[in-house]
Amino acid sequence: MAELKTVLITGASRGIGREVARLFALSGYRVAIHYHERADLAQTLYDELMGKGCETMTVGADIADASQVCGMVAAVEERLGGIDVLVNNAAISHYKLFDEITDEEWKNVFAVNVEGMFYCCRSVLPGMIRRKNGAIINISSIWGITGASCETAYSASKAAVIGLTRALAKEVGPSDVRVNCVAPGVIDTDMNALVDEEALLELKALTPLNRLGTARDIAQTVLFLASPAASFITGQVISPNGGLVI
Ligand code: NAD
Repeated sequence: MAELKTVLITGASRGIGREVARLFALSGYRVAIHYHERADLAQTLYDELMGKGCETMTVGADIADASQVCGMVAAVEERLGGIDVLVNNAAISHYKLFDEITDEEWKNVFAVNVEGMFYCCRSVLPGMIRRKNGAIINISSIWGITGASCETAYSASKAAVIGLTRALAKEVGPSDVRVNCVAPGVIDTDMNALVDEEALLELKALTPLNRLGTARDIAQTVLFLASPAASFITGQVISPNGGLVI
Protein backbone atom coordinates (compact mmCIF):
# COMPACT_ATOMS: atom_id res chain seq x y z
CA MET A 1 0.00 0.00 0.00
CA ALA A 2 1.11 3.56 -0.73
CA GLU A 3 2.34 5.67 2.16
CA LEU A 4 -0.62 6.91 4.18
CA LYS A 5 -1.43 10.52 3.53
CA THR A 6 -3.99 12.93 4.88
CA VAL A 7 -6.61 14.43 2.59
CA LEU A 8 -9.28 17.04 3.34
CA ILE A 9 -12.25 16.99 0.99
CA THR A 10 -14.73 19.86 1.19
CA GLY A 11 -18.40 19.16 0.57
CA ALA A 12 -17.91 15.43 1.10
CA SER A 13 -21.27 14.57 2.64
CA ARG A 14 -22.86 13.93 -0.76
CA GLY A 15 -22.37 13.84 -4.52
CA ILE A 16 -18.91 14.02 -6.04
CA GLY A 17 -17.18 14.88 -2.74
CA ARG A 18 -18.64 11.81 -1.03
CA GLU A 19 -17.30 9.51 -3.75
CA VAL A 20 -13.91 11.27 -3.69
CA ALA A 21 -13.73 10.68 0.08
CA ARG A 22 -14.70 7.03 -0.35
CA LEU A 23 -12.11 6.39 -3.07
CA PHE A 24 -9.27 8.11 -1.19
CA ALA A 25 -10.12 6.23 2.01
CA LEU A 26 -10.18 2.88 0.22
CA SER A 27 -6.85 3.80 -1.42
CA GLY A 28 -5.16 4.17 1.98
CA TYR A 29 -5.47 7.88 2.71
CA ARG A 30 -6.53 9.32 6.06
CA VAL A 31 -9.67 11.21 5.11
CA ALA A 32 -11.28 14.30 6.61
CA ILE A 33 -14.92 14.38 5.48
CA HIS A 34 -16.01 18.01 5.48
CA TYR A 35 -19.72 18.86 5.57
CA HIS A 36 -21.70 22.06 5.74
CA GLU A 37 -25.20 21.32 7.01
CA ARG A 38 -25.65 17.56 6.67
CA ALA A 39 -23.70 16.19 9.61
CA ASP A 40 -25.97 13.14 9.43
CA LEU A 41 -24.83 12.24 5.90
CA ALA A 42 -21.18 12.81 6.80
CA GLN A 43 -21.68 10.48 9.76
CA THR A 44 -23.05 7.64 7.58
CA LEU A 45 -19.98 7.90 5.35
CA TYR A 46 -17.74 7.98 8.42
CA ASP A 47 -19.44 4.83 9.76
CA GLU A 48 -19.11 3.08 6.38
CA LEU A 49 -15.41 3.89 6.08
CA MET A 50 -14.56 3.08 9.70
CA GLY A 51 -16.32 -0.24 9.15
CA LYS A 52 -13.83 -0.92 6.36
CA GLY A 53 -10.86 -0.13 8.59
CA CYS A 54 -10.17 3.35 7.18
CA GLU A 55 -8.86 6.25 9.26
CA THR A 56 -11.30 9.12 8.95
CA MET A 57 -13.06 12.00 10.70
CA THR A 58 -15.90 14.43 10.01
CA VAL A 59 -15.58 18.19 10.29
CA GLY A 60 -18.22 20.87 9.78
CA ALA A 61 -17.72 24.42 8.44
CA ASP A 62 -19.24 27.07 6.25
CA ILE A 63 -16.36 27.56 3.81
CA ALA A 64 -17.56 31.10 3.04
CA ASP A 65 -16.48 32.02 6.59
CA ALA A 66 -12.69 32.42 6.91
CA SER A 67 -12.62 31.78 10.66
CA GLN A 68 -14.62 28.54 10.30
CA VAL A 69 -12.17 27.39 7.62
CA CYS A 70 -9.22 28.08 9.95
CA GLY A 71 -10.96 26.07 12.68
CA MET A 72 -11.64 23.21 10.25
CA VAL A 73 -8.02 22.97 9.10
CA ALA A 74 -6.71 23.13 12.69
CA ALA A 75 -9.11 20.34 13.73
CA VAL A 76 -8.01 18.10 10.87
CA GLU A 77 -4.30 18.70 11.47
CA GLU A 78 -4.70 17.93 15.16
CA ARG A 79 -6.59 14.68 14.56
CA LEU A 80 -5.11 13.31 11.31
CA GLY A 81 -1.78 15.17 10.98
CA GLY A 82 -0.60 17.65 8.33
CA ILE A 83 -2.87 17.90 5.31
CA ASP A 84 -1.05 16.54 2.24
CA VAL A 85 -3.94 16.79 -0.20
CA LEU A 86 -6.75 19.36 -0.32
CA VAL A 87 -9.72 18.72 -2.60
CA ASN A 88 -11.72 21.94 -2.98
CA ASN A 89 -15.01 20.42 -4.04
CA ALA A 90 -17.74 22.33 -2.14
CA ALA A 91 -19.74 24.77 -4.25
CA ILE A 92 -23.23 25.97 -5.01
CA SER A 93 -24.99 26.20 -8.35
CA HIS A 94 -27.19 29.08 -9.46
CA TYR A 95 -29.67 29.31 -12.36
CA LYS A 96 -31.23 32.60 -13.44
CA LEU A 97 -31.50 34.97 -16.37
CA PHE A 98 -28.57 37.37 -16.12
CA ASP A 99 -30.66 40.52 -15.64
CA GLU A 100 -32.60 38.94 -12.79
CA ILE A 101 -29.57 38.08 -10.65
CA THR A 102 -29.54 40.09 -7.42
CA ASP A 103 -26.37 41.56 -5.89
CA GLU A 104 -26.76 39.19 -2.98
CA GLU A 105 -27.07 36.09 -5.17
CA TRP A 106 -24.00 37.05 -7.21
CA LYS A 107 -21.96 37.70 -4.06
CA ASN A 108 -23.12 34.47 -2.46
CA VAL A 109 -22.02 32.34 -5.43
CA PHE A 110 -18.57 33.94 -5.32
CA ALA A 111 -18.42 33.78 -1.50
CA VAL A 112 -18.75 29.99 -1.59
CA ASN A 113 -17.23 28.99 -4.93
CA VAL A 114 -14.26 31.37 -5.02
CA GLU A 115 -13.65 32.94 -1.61
CA GLY A 116 -14.30 29.60 0.11
CA MET A 117 -11.65 28.02 -2.08
CA PHE A 118 -9.26 30.91 -1.37
CA TYR A 119 -9.73 30.48 2.41
CA CYS A 120 -9.16 26.70 2.20
CA CYS A 121 -5.99 27.05 0.09
CA ARG A 122 -4.67 29.82 2.34
CA SER A 123 -5.22 27.74 5.46
CA VAL A 124 -3.54 24.52 4.27
CA LEU A 125 -0.65 26.03 2.28
CA PRO A 126 1.68 27.03 5.16
CA GLY A 127 1.90 23.38 6.25
CA MET A 128 2.37 22.10 2.69
CA ILE A 129 5.07 24.67 1.97
CA ARG A 130 6.86 23.91 5.25
CA ARG A 131 6.85 20.19 4.45
CA LYS A 132 7.68 20.90 0.77
CA ASN A 133 4.98 18.49 -0.26
CA GLY A 134 1.36 18.85 -1.20
CA ALA A 135 -1.33 18.64 -3.83
CA ILE A 136 -4.39 20.82 -4.22
CA ILE A 137 -7.17 19.80 -6.58
CA ASN A 138 -9.80 22.44 -7.30
CA ILE A 139 -13.13 21.40 -8.76
CA SER A 140 -14.27 23.79 -11.48
CA SER A 141 -16.82 22.88 -14.18
CA ILE A 142 -17.05 22.54 -17.94
CA TRP A 143 -19.16 25.73 -17.68
CA GLY A 144 -16.11 27.52 -16.30
CA ILE A 145 -14.44 26.79 -19.65
CA THR A 146 -17.33 27.19 -22.10
CA GLY A 147 -19.90 29.26 -20.15
CA ALA A 148 -23.53 28.19 -19.67
CA SER A 149 -26.62 30.20 -20.51
CA CYS A 150 -28.62 31.19 -17.39
CA GLU A 151 -25.64 30.23 -15.22
CA THR A 152 -23.53 33.37 -15.54
CA ALA A 153 -22.61 33.71 -11.87
CA TYR A 154 -21.79 30.00 -11.59
CA SER A 155 -19.81 29.96 -14.87
CA ALA A 156 -17.87 33.11 -13.88
CA SER A 157 -17.06 31.64 -10.47
CA LYS A 158 -15.85 28.40 -12.04
CA ALA A 159 -13.70 30.34 -14.54
CA ALA A 160 -12.19 32.12 -11.52
CA VAL A 161 -11.32 28.71 -10.08
CA ILE A 162 -9.29 27.97 -13.22
CA GLY A 163 -7.46 31.31 -12.96
CA LEU A 164 -6.74 30.71 -9.29
CA THR A 165 -5.41 27.22 -10.07
CA ARG A 166 -3.05 28.36 -12.81
CA ALA A 167 -1.65 31.32 -10.85
CA LEU A 168 -1.26 29.45 -7.57
CA ALA A 169 0.46 26.54 -9.33
CA LYS A 170 3.15 28.93 -10.55
CA GLU A 171 3.57 30.50 -7.13
CA VAL A 172 3.86 27.34 -5.03
CA GLY A 173 5.49 25.02 -7.58
CA PRO A 174 8.97 25.91 -6.27
CA SER A 175 7.81 24.62 -2.86
CA ASP A 176 6.85 21.26 -4.41
CA VAL A 177 3.15 21.90 -4.04
CA ARG A 178 1.09 21.00 -7.11
CA VAL A 179 -2.21 22.72 -7.90
CA ASN A 180 -4.54 21.31 -10.54
CA CYS A 181 -8.13 21.67 -11.58
CA VAL A 182 -10.82 19.18 -12.56
CA ALA A 183 -13.62 20.63 -14.70
CA PRO A 184 -16.33 17.96 -14.86
CA GLY A 185 -18.92 17.72 -17.60
CA VAL A 186 -22.49 16.89 -16.62
CA ILE A 187 -22.47 14.56 -13.63
CA ASP A 188 -25.44 12.76 -12.16
CA THR A 189 -25.72 14.32 -8.65
CA ASP A 190 -28.12 16.42 -6.54
CA MET A 191 -26.64 19.56 -8.10
CA ASN A 192 -28.55 18.80 -11.29
CA ALA A 193 -31.82 18.04 -9.48
CA LEU A 194 -33.24 21.37 -10.67
CA VAL A 195 -32.25 20.83 -14.31
CA ASP A 196 -35.25 19.51 -16.21
CA GLU A 197 -35.21 15.95 -17.50
CA GLU A 198 -35.39 17.01 -21.15
CA ALA A 199 -32.32 19.26 -20.86
CA LEU A 200 -30.36 16.44 -19.23
CA LEU A 201 -31.37 14.03 -22.02
CA GLU A 202 -30.23 16.60 -24.56
CA LEU A 203 -26.86 16.98 -22.84
CA LYS A 204 -26.51 13.20 -22.76
CA ALA A 205 -27.26 13.01 -26.49
CA LEU A 206 -24.59 15.67 -27.13
CA THR A 207 -22.04 13.63 -25.20
CA PRO A 208 -20.03 11.32 -27.49
CA LEU A 209 -19.81 8.66 -24.77
CA ASN A 210 -23.63 8.87 -24.60
CA ARG A 211 -24.05 9.02 -20.85
CA LEU A 212 -23.90 11.46 -17.98
CA GLY A 213 -20.80 11.24 -15.83
CA THR A 214 -20.80 9.61 -12.41
CA ALA A 215 -19.26 10.85 -9.19
CA ARG A 216 -16.88 7.90 -9.50
CA ASP A 217 -15.60 9.20 -12.89
CA ILE A 218 -14.58 12.44 -11.20
CA ALA A 219 -13.20 10.79 -8.07
CA GLN A 220 -10.84 8.69 -10.17
CA THR A 221 -9.48 11.79 -11.91
CA VAL A 222 -8.96 13.53 -8.56
CA LEU A 223 -7.21 10.49 -7.09
CA PHE A 224 -4.87 10.37 -10.08
CA LEU A 225 -3.98 14.06 -9.72
CA ALA A 226 -3.13 13.53 -6.04
CA SER A 227 -0.99 10.46 -6.76
CA PRO A 228 2.75 10.17 -7.47
CA ALA A 229 1.74 9.22 -11.05
CA ALA A 230 0.89 12.92 -11.51
CA SER A 231 4.09 14.23 -9.92
CA PHE A 232 5.03 16.34 -13.00
CA ILE A 233 1.52 17.72 -13.51
CA THR A 234 0.65 21.15 -12.14
CA GLY A 235 -1.35 24.17 -13.27
CA GLN A 236 -3.51 21.96 -15.50
CA VAL A 237 -7.22 21.71 -16.13
CA ILE A 238 -8.59 18.24 -16.87
CA SER A 239 -12.18 17.97 -18.01
CA PRO A 240 -13.72 14.50 -17.60
CA ASN A 241 -16.80 15.15 -19.73
CA GLY A 242 -17.38 12.15 -22.01
CA GLY A 243 -16.19 14.20 -24.97
CA LEU A 244 -18.90 16.87 -24.58
CA VAL A 245 -17.90 20.01 -26.49
CA ILE A 246 -20.42 22.83 -26.37
P1 NAD B 1 -23.66 18.81 -4.57
O1 NAD B 1 -24.60 19.96 -4.54
O2 NAD B 1 -24.19 17.43 -4.39
O3 NAD B 1 -22.50 19.04 -3.51
C1 NAD B 1 -21.98 20.30 -3.19
C2 NAD B 1 -21.36 20.25 -1.81
O4 NAD B 1 -20.92 21.57 -1.46
C3 NAD B 1 -22.36 19.81 -0.73
O5 NAD B 1 -21.77 18.82 0.08
C4 NAD B 1 -22.58 21.08 0.07
O6 NAD B 1 -22.82 20.86 1.44
C5 NAD B 1 -21.26 21.82 -0.12
N1 NAD B 1 -21.43 23.23 0.16
C6 NAD B 1 -22.27 24.11 -0.45
N2 NAD B 1 -22.18 25.32 0.14
C7 NAD B 1 -21.26 25.22 1.13
C8 NAD B 1 -20.74 26.13 2.09
N3 NAD B 1 -21.12 27.41 2.17
N4 NAD B 1 -19.81 25.68 2.96
C9 NAD B 1 -19.41 24.40 2.90
N5 NAD B 1 -19.84 23.48 2.02
C10 NAD B 1 -20.78 23.90 1.15
O7 NAD B 1 -22.91 18.94 -5.94
P2 NAD B 1 -21.89 18.00 -6.75
O8 NAD B 1 -22.50 17.74 -8.06
O9 NAD B 1 -21.41 16.87 -5.92
O10 NAD B 1 -20.72 19.06 -7.00
C11 NAD B 1 -19.41 18.94 -6.46
C12 NAD B 1 -18.49 19.86 -7.21
O11 NAD B 1 -18.49 19.50 -8.60
C13 NAD B 1 -18.90 21.33 -7.19
O12 NAD B 1 -17.74 22.13 -7.14
C14 NAD B 1 -19.61 21.53 -8.50
O13 NAD B 1 -19.59 22.88 -8.91
C15 NAD B 1 -18.76 20.64 -9.39
N6 NAD B 1 -19.41 20.22 -10.63
C16 NAD B 1 -20.55 19.46 -10.61
C17 NAD B 1 -21.11 19.08 -11.83
C18 NAD B 1 -22.36 18.27 -11.90
O14 NAD B 1 -22.89 18.10 -13.02
N7 NAD B 1 -22.87 17.71 -10.81
C19 NAD B 1 -20.52 19.47 -13.04
C20 NAD B 1 -19.37 20.24 -13.01
C21 NAD B 1 -18.83 20.60 -11.80
